[in-house]
Order: sequence, then C-alpha cells, then structure tokens
Amino acid sequence: MSKPVLLAVDDDPQVLAAVRRDLRSRYRGDYTVMGASSGEEGLATARELKVRGDALAMVISDQRMPGMLGVDLLTRCREVYPLARRVLLTAYADIEAAVRAINEAHLDHYLGKPWDPPEEQLYPVVDDLLDCWQAEVLPEATGLRLIGHQWSPRTHAVKDFLASNLIPYRWLEAGRDPEVEKVLDAAGIASAELPALVFEDGSVLKNPEPRQVAERLGRPLLAAYDLYDLVIVGAGPAGLGAAVYGASEGLRTLLVDRHAPGGQAGTSSRIENYLGFPAGVSGGELTRRAIAQAQRLGAEFVVPIEVTGTSIDAGYKRLTLGDGREVVTRTLLAATGMAYREHPAPGIAEHTGAGVYYGAATTEATACRGQRVLVVGGGNSAGQGAMYLSRHASEVEIVTRRDISETMSRYLVDQIAATENIRLRPGVELERVEGEGRLERVVLRPLDGGTPVAEDVGAVFVFIGTRPRSDWLPAGVLKDERCFVLTGRDLPTSDAYARTWKLPREPLLLETSVPGVFAAGDVRSGAMNRVAAAVGEGSMAVRLVQEDLCLT
Ligand SMILES: Cc1cc2nc3c(=O)[nH]c(=O)nc-3n(C[C@H](O)[C@H](O)[C@H](O)COP(=O)(O)OP(=O)(O)OC[C@H]3O[C@@H](n4cnc5c(N)ncnc54)[C@H](O)[C@@H]3O)c2cc1C
Repeated sequence: MSKPVLLAVDDDPQVLAAVRRDLRSRYRGDYTVMGASSGEEGLATARELKVRGDALAMVISDQRMPGMLGVDLLTRCREVYPLARRVLLTAYADIEAAVRAINEAHLDHYLGKPWDPPEEQLYPVVDDLLDCWQAEVLPEATGLRLIGHQWSPRTHAVKDFLASNLIPYRWLEAGRDPEVEKVLDAAGIASAELPALVFEDGSVLKNPEPRQVAERLGRPLLAAYDLYDLVIVGAGPAGLGAAVYGASEGLRTLLVDRHAPGGQAGTSSRIENYLGFPAGVSGGELTRRAIAQAQRLGAEFVVPIEVTGTSIDAGYKRLTLGDGREVVTRTLLAATGMAYREHPAPGIAEHTGAGVYYGAATTEATACRGQRVLVVGGGNSAGQGAMYLSRHASEVEIVTRRDISETMSRYLVDQIAATENIRLRPGVELERVEGEGRLERVVLRPLDGGTPVAEDVGAVFVFIGTRPRSDWLPAGVLKDERCFVLTGRDLPTSDAYARTWKLPREPLLLETSVPGVFAAGDVRSGAMNRVAAAVGEGSMAVRLVQEDLCLT
C-alpha cells in the first residue's frame, strides 16, 4: 500500500513551496506530501486519491484563494475523507474568520502564517493531529477483524468494548460484506459461533466475553502489587485526573474500570468546553491522551474489572473484584460517576443492543446511514448525540416531554436548529418498541392525550438521565437521598454523621464518612457534572489523599 498523503493547498506558489518543503523535511519517511494551487485542484486531488484507494491523512489549506475559499475546500474534503485532519492556514488578519470556521465547519486547527520556526509553530500541531488520525484510522487489509451480525447484542458488546478501549478493528458484517464467507471458511468459524474476532496471526476468538478479548490482547487483568497507596475506582475524567496526579506525586496508584477508560465523557462525540481545545475534542481523543499520560507517569491500569464491594480492615480498604479476587489499599477514591437510567418502556430491554442503544453508541452510528433514528431525551448529552447522529442518519428526531430550550444549553439548541435533518418532537413519550429479533418500530404517545402512533425507525438512542454508581462502597459511606456520595462539608447535613464519623479531625474536603475513602466527580453529591470539574476534583483528591496518608 502507498503511504498516506499530506495535501497542501495554496494559490501563492512561494507559500505552497514552503509548506511542502517543511512538511517533506519531517514527514517524508511515513507520508507522501502533495500540493495543489487552488481549492478546485485540491478537491480534485482528494477525489482522485479516493478512487485510487489511497489514504489522505491531512489537508492544510490557505483561506484566501480565488474560486474556492479554504474553509469551503476543507468542508468538502470531509465528505470524501471524513477522518482526514483539516487545518486552515491564515494570515493574522483572518484569525477571527478561522475561529468562526472551527465552530461552523468543525475544522481541527488553524495555523498562522508565517509558521517559523517550524519546530515550534508547525510540527507540534501536525504531529499531534497525525497521532489522532493514526489512532482513528482503521487498518484496511490486516489487523484485528470483528465478524458478526449487525443486530446482535453480543456483537454490540464486543464492538463497544473495542471502541471504548481505543482498540482499532475492522468490522465485517455477516450477510452483507462479500469478504465474510471467505474469512469464515478460512478460519473454520460457523455462523452460529458469531461474533468472532480474527487476529492478525490468524487465531480466532468465537463469541467472546470482553474479558477474554482483553486477555487475548495482552491487557493486564491483574494488579501487580498486594498493597497500593491509592486505588481509584472508575477511569472517567475524575479517575483519570487522579491517576495522573497520583502517579506523578509518586504514590503507588492503581486505576480500575469495569468497562473502559473515558467514562461518560468517552462517549461524547465532541466536548466543546474543555480548556485548551479551541476546536473541541472528542471524548475518545481526550481519553486516549489522558490514559497514555497516566500510564507514562507510572499509574497501573486494569480493565475490564468491576469492583463489587469494599470492606475496611484495620484502616486498610479491601476491594472485592468481579472475579472474586481482592486488592488492598491505604486510600480509596470513588470515581465511578453515573450510568444511564434504563428506559422503562416495554420492549426496550429485549432490543437493547439490537437497535436500542444507551448514549450515542458511536460504534453503531455508521450502521444508521440513510435511516431515520430517534433520540429520546432532552439534556445536553441527547443534543450532542443528535448532532453526531445527524452526520450519519438521514433523519434524526428528538423525542422529549418538554421543549429542549428548557433543558439543553443554548449553543446546542442553536446547532440543532441549524441542522436540516434534525426534527424536534416535544410533548411526546416513547410508549413501547417492537420488532422481530431487532428493533423495527416504535409507538409514540402524545402527552396531550392524543392517539399513540406506530412509526418505523432504524434505531433508538436513549438519553434519559443517569443514576450514581455508588452501591459498591462500604456501608459506612453516607449518601444523599438519590444515592450520591456525601463528602467534606456536606457530611454534617446527614443525621447519621455524628454516629459515623469518630475521628477528632473534620473530614477532608472530598473525604467521605469513612476516613481515607474519597469521592470525586459525578458520583459525589453536589457534583457539577462537567468534564473539567471531574478532572479538577480527581486532581484535588490526590492532594487530600497525601494529607490523609500523612495523618495516618
Ligand atoms: C454523551 C455525553 C456528553 C457529555 N458532554 C459533555 C461536555 O461536552 N462537556 C462537559 O463538561 N461535560 C459533558 N458531559 C458530562 C461529563 O462527561 C461527566 O460529567 C463526566 O464524565 C463525569 O466524570 P466522572 O469521572 O465523574 O464519571 P464517569 O465519566 O461517569 O466515569 C465513571 C467510570 O467509572 C466506571 N465504573 C463505574 N462503576 C464501577 C465499578 N463498580 N467498578 C469499576 N469501574 C466502575 C465506569 O465504567 C466509568 O468509566 C457529557 C456526558 C455525556 C454522557
């Protein structure tokens, strides 16, 4: 296969030559650098590359060009190569337009002209964007292949596990992809044994559990030590923030997650409000960076391992894991966040994973191409999910009890209003879902007493709120009436506080009613439910953990 392409586009021959020279000097070993002198030529080049089956990794385009503007070229390139990174080259006077373009056309970055020295102004940005592209792009002919039926919950579980753990794989749909029969014959897999994972060396896992997949991929499922300074349960933003700080402060730190790193934030297609990412950042990308950072600093990470219970033994915290093993730690951080609330409508449980999904289920979005899908819920996560799905489905309908302007942030309401294929259905409730082996139709009931109507849909994505994951904590941990964990100054509001807290000192800010057990992020009563807040609390908890370790 030929090398992936970096495409530079500028109508000024001198600038074009300079971009090509600088890109070649650093990237020619791994990439082919091509140039075009107008937007039209750039687009034609991208289309030719597509026809030839070549990979396009990045387009860097000047903004002011006669004919087609840079932003328009980059927007149209996305239709041809959705994963290619898109960078706008601007003069100082155009920076405002570039920032606007990041919002409107969802560009990845803008670079100011001139970019001297390239070691400081050009290469760090390009390196970073190419890393992201490499992480997302799927191996074509080789690598891990997952074969299964689209509407199988078991297949969905494996897809979700691979994608959430940022493991690239190629999806081959049984009955649709022409290559499937050949691969099944060659690997000796019967149709009843699907889903199956075929590894690069030809070995096969038939109908696997996520745990078996992790084991086969060499992911550690065992903690390396008998005793830790800090065990963090939950690798969402709070847990990841704590892991980075815990490890960098020299604490023996273990991070455990039942599913994958990233938590709720990992399922977000675009986080717009996290500091330092002017173009927004996908949850997957933020997670990839954070887990790499935590592990580089020395935090140990095991996944998929669920913590099912905790007991306190002479001040040590003894955690029981899903497979019956135990881990002992001096301090414990609960960063288990929240889980989606299950929709109670009849038919939902039977069709979960077979047309009904919780959250945006980014793994399933491409299967919605050309279909009509429903998003149920009116919060920000539902809005983000609808925006993401609108790039794949022909029509997205948001089903809500109330008007979304009452429940969603303004910027999302505006984005939705400006998206042609999203339709709002306020004042309606999902009454039941139906289908043979997979979701086929929904019955919607108007809240004004109107007659329920049955409608055909391709998929339903449920976002109807969340509940805390706090049931695995020791009995002495006090919670509020909704089961969120009480910490620090909120503890005295509980009647049980005086009976529970026996130390002469006050609980530390994020400490629970059990000394040495801390809570951060969405699982905590009064949490802000934001990525930045969770990361901040996770980092802050480490400072308090250190204080606790000195006190005991
Ligand atoms: C779709 C979506 C979009 C969002 N977009 C934004 C946004 O744009 N901006 C923003 O600021 N916020 C956003 N949020 C909110 C933000 O993601 C959350 O506030 C944040 O993720 C909370 O982080 P956390 O670490 O506390 O918990 P979580 O993210 O919920 O992570 C908890 C982790 O704990 C693990 N876990 C749970 N129980 C156990 C157990 N018993 N054993 C082991 N592991 C366990 C889970 O698998 C999970 O990985 C969004 C949320 C969603 C769902």
